[in-house]
Formats: sequence, structure tokens, C-alpha cells
Amino acid sequence: MADLVNELVWSHSRARAFSGCARAYWFAYYGSWGGWDAAAPVAARDAYVQKKLTSRSMWTGTVVHAVAERALRQVRDGFALGPVEMAVAGARSGARRDIEGSQDGSWLQRPARRVGFREHYYEQAPTEADWDAAIDEIERQVRGLWDNRLFQRLCAVPGRILELEDLRRFSVGNVDVYVVLDVLVEDGRGGVVILDWKTGEGHHDADIAVQLGVYGLYATQELAVPADRITAMHVNLRLGTESRHPVGAAEIHEAAARIASSSADMRARLLNVAENVAVAEDYPELPVGAPDCRYCSFRGVCGRR
Ligand code: SF4
Repeated sequence: MADLVNELVWSHSRARAFSGCARAYWFAYYGSWGGWDAAAPVAARDAYVQKKLTSRSMWTGTVVHAVAERALRQVRDGFALGPVEMAVAGARSGARRDIEGSQDGSWLQRPARRVGFREHYYEQAPTEADWDAAIDEIERQVRGLWDNRLFQRLCAVPGRILELEDLRRFSVGNVDVYVVLDVLVEDGRGGVVILDWKTGEGHHDADIAVQLGVYGLYATQELAVPADRITAMHVNLRLGTESRHPVGAAEIHEAAARIASSSADMRARLLNVAENVAVAEDYPELPVGAPDCRYCSFRGVCGRR
């Protein structure tokens, strides 16, 4: 297999990381590079393992998204949607396994495939009641998904689903961009609907609008969907809310401009743009005592345990 090359490919999550702590961004995209190899230098290996850490709220989202994806793939493949009780039971037992594998450290044998919690890694383990509450929240959201009218509509017309959590790469100006749409579905009238499941409380409309603008850019550019035929829906399974966001020519134009300026800022920090080489010294840490450090996955390699 050819050696993997560390390329600068823009994504919404990368841009969000870049706008936060510069050193954390460096750990995520440069310092951890190659650390998937157990024989990698200790610093890269540690940064890679820490990059894989999750928190209870992030993990809730991952589990619920996986349940949604699995169910929709199933119906798209021609099978009937299973009962919610079966989905709940599977999600709860998988969640228990995740917690146990993180607690006993066995996840470290395969950090890319298994779940490791910051709470265990940094020995801040919550109580049993906290874990139980997290699993109950997963169950609540899975039940909410089954009751959601848009999910039910997708299950009724699975042949219209075009994309389901598929990683896509496309070019915008002089940079490549990654997108993963939760669901992209034909609306039956020559347009598409972009559906985004949210599972947390801390989502801001402005941030969602930017993300959906990038998805709209993908749909117009790569799938030739006219800008006035795109609808974006955001379903928050935690709050039980649903909102429609405009994705038209203005939002798409704004997304392209944001990608251009953000990727230019990322490149401006590089030591060597052609080779995408970055050195830690050019990515300063936050001041000692900064609140963000308390929740940062990289506080181990950063020396701020
Ligand atoms: S521990 Fe703090 S300074 Fe270090 S990478 Fe994380 S946020 Fe940045």
C-alpha cells in the first residue's frame, strides 16, 4: 500500500478546530500523524490515541447517528424497519460494551475502532449513575428518532435516499473539501433535502447555517442540483425540535468564501505549504489555566493533565 500523505483538506470540523486552540489543532492534524502505527514515536502515538478520545455527549451523538444510519441502510436495502425495541436493546448493549472497553483499557488495542472516554483516560470517571443517565439519553433519542416524522418519511421512500453518512471529497477553488452528509434525499420535485441529525444542546444556528451552506455547495457543484431546489432540515433529537435553514445562492456563495479564507489562514501557518509541514512552535498553546484545557483531549501530550 502506498504511504499515506498528510494533505490539507478543508472540512467544517477542521475549520472549527482551527478557530480554537492552535496547539490542539496542530496535535489533531500534524502531531498525531502516523500515530495509528503502534510502533510510531511515542509523542505521535500518544497524540493519536488522545485524538481518538471522546466524551459522553460526543459519544451519544456517535451512537445515535450509527443507529440512524444502520436503520436507513436497512430500509434502503429493501428490508423492513425493525421495531424500536430492537434498536434500543442493541444501542444499550453496545453502549455498555463501549464503557467497559474504555474502563478496562482494552480499547487501546484498537483506538481507531473502539471507544475511549476522556473520563477514563484522565481518571475523572463519572459515577455509575452518570453512565446510566448517558445510556438512558441514548435510548430516549433512539425512541425520538423512530417517532420523528422525517425519519418515518425516509423509511417510507427509501429509494429516494441518495447519500447516507458517505465521505465525499470535492474541490473548491484551490483546496479540496471533505463533507459527510447525514442524509441527502430527493424531494420528488427535482430538488434535494439535506437532513442533519443533532444530538446535543450546544448547537448554534450560525454554525449550523455555515455547515449546511457547505453541504449546499457540494450539492450544487457535484450533483448539479440547482441552488433554489435545496432544502436543509436540522432535527435535534435531544431537544425534540426541528428547523429549516435556507440554503440558496447567497448561503452557497458565503460557504465558498469561507472555505477560501479559512484554508488560506490554515496555509499561512504552515512552514512548508507545498509539503503541508507544520511545526508545533507556530501553533501556540492557550494561557495556563484557560478553561478550554479542562476539556481538551490533548491535555496529556500538552503537559496539562
Ligand atoms: S491542553 Fe489547552 S493549550 Fe493544550 S492543546 Fe489543549 S486546549 Fe490547547
